[in-house]
Amino acid sequence: MKIISNPIELKNYLKNKKETIGFIPTMGALHEGHISLIRKAREENELIVVSIFVNPTQFLKGEDLDRYPSKDEADKKICEMSEVDVLFFPHKKDIYCDDEVSLLAPKVRGYVLEGTSRPAHFDGVLTVVMKLLNIVNPTKAYFGKKDAQQLNLISLMVKQMFMSVAIIAVDTVRESDGLALSSRNVYLDADERKEALKISTSLHLAHKMISQNILSSTEIKKAMRKCLSPLEIAYVEILNRDFEPIDEVIIKNTVVLVEVKVGTTRLLDNIWL
Ligand code: AMP
Repeated sequence: MKIISNPIELKNYLKNKKETIGFIPTMGALHEGHISLIRKAREENELIVVSIFVNPTQFLKGEDLDRYPSKDEADKKICEMSEVDVLFFPHKKDIYCDDEVSLLAPKVRGYVLEGTSRPAHFDGVLTVVMKLLNIVNPTKAYFGKKDAQQLNLISLMVKQMFMSVAIIAVDTVRESDGLALSSRNVYLDADERKEALKISTSLHLAHKMISQNILSSTEIKKAMRKCLSPLEIAYVEILNRDFEPIDEVIIKNTVVLVEVKVGTTRLLDNIWL
């Protein structure tokens, strides 16, 4: 596995490759969720590039940028074992300049759900993803459905900017008890870990109600809120796959999303129906 930190060196290295390139951008502290993205990319491409970059511009003041989990050596081993060909490990100065061109998230879809409590978060996400995609120029790039709004906005960006990369959505990997894997789960103490299970339980409840033909968004959201109590709920939302609110669940075109705070940790999860 080649490890490269300089974007120009990586661009030059990949420039004359004839192989299809699968790209997985991450912020490190790799877990089975990330590995499932790499695995899917491995199946569909000849050359695999993973990036590890804790992108400062997507963290707001007072968020966990300084304590975001970092496991560089373990991450390198995981990438090697997952047959990654190139690990891109840039420093902040390699990616950002003092006087930056701005890329802004859409004013509506970038400022709802997670964007309500984290204004400008998606400006930072889209900016770094645009930069990374331009550096790697992959055939396909892989993103987790767990970060559904991020996936939706990146797909929009690629479409609206007429970019040629294919964005591939990958299912959420969970612990055996249902908790979605996240690098931030390490922040949870034992009691919080137990409380966090209410997230997947509430989604399971939504799924059960829908399978019983209870399709009213209001009714499902009310039951989910009850199930999540007393956690601090940022949102419980039912949208179609274009991220527009819907009064009734539309089978095969619905995403049920939750964000809560458990202690000081924000956790997201969702199911696609
Ligand atoms: P992160 O390192 O948290 O920025 O995540 C990098 C990529 O992995 C993103 O596309 C995430 O959506 C995806 N990801 C994170 N957690 C999971 C999970 N539990 N299952 C599947 N994909 C995930």
